[in-house]
Amino acid sequence: CGIVGYVGKEDLAWGEHRAVGVVMGGLRRLEYRGYDSAGIALLGREGINVRKKAGKLGNLEDALTSNPLPSAHVGIGHTRWATHGAPTDGNAHPHLADHGRLAVVHNGIIENSALLKRQLEAAGHAFSSDTDTEVAAALLADAYRTLDPEVADDRLAEAMRVACAKLEGSFTLLAVHRDHPGLIVAARRNSPLVIGRGEGENFLGSDVAAFADFTRYAIELGQDQVVSLTSDKVTITDFSGAEIQGQEFHVDWDP
Ligand code: GLU
Repeated sequence: CGIVGYVGKEDLAWGEHRAVGVVMGGLRRLEYRGYDSAGIALLGREGINVRKKAGKLGNLEDALTSNPLPSAHVGIGHTRWATHGAPTDGNAHPHLADHGRLAVVHNGIIENSALLKRQLEAAGHAFSSDTDTEVAAALLADAYRTLDPEVADDRLAEAMRVACAKLEGSFTLLAVHRDHPGLIVAARRNSPLVIGRGEGENFLGSDVAAFADFTRYAIELGQDQVVSLTSDKVTITDFSGAEIQGQEFHVDWDP
């Protein structure tokens, strides 16, 4: 029921453990929303690494302490309130697709996931969880694969727009792909997402509490919009790809 995203600079000397620290700190701040499992994906030079655990955030913290992830400058984190599939380690987010090259976290419910899952299975997709989220991840991977690599930097965002057009229900989705090492792409419908603008780093959160310790400059992502976030750029479009100017506000209360 909470989502956090962080994109910093690739120069890891700038803050070697910043991504994992910001994401885990953000998940702590969102604990009040309630959850049954938690997970994190870090995207570094060598690709994506995931840790996820059912139960309290402390379980995930213990897993990260006993078996630390390689340092990374991009991270996405999730606390889950199970709607599709029991609260197990395997059903916890992030969910992977595209042979481990793509990781997705999701808050909300994909209403048409059963139908989409049958279609994807008929096309040869194998699923490893009971979640509606893994269906969205597979759909995104499918859209990504069929797009012309020429669209390069915008390929993941375009895949997100294509996938979202097929999804019904409520969702905040965050995605990272190993072929786009400095990027998070996110989308939302009937579920909140706020962007935090830092200096040389940017943030995402279900609400501003996720990043208020790091920046107070925020933009609320609108209904049916997609954001591409790098360490120094925020690009917002609607689901048809038309660019939108986000309205920045200052968080002058204590969330
Ligand atoms: N429907 C998803 C699941 O059950 C996401 C639930 C949530 O909002 O945390 O995994």
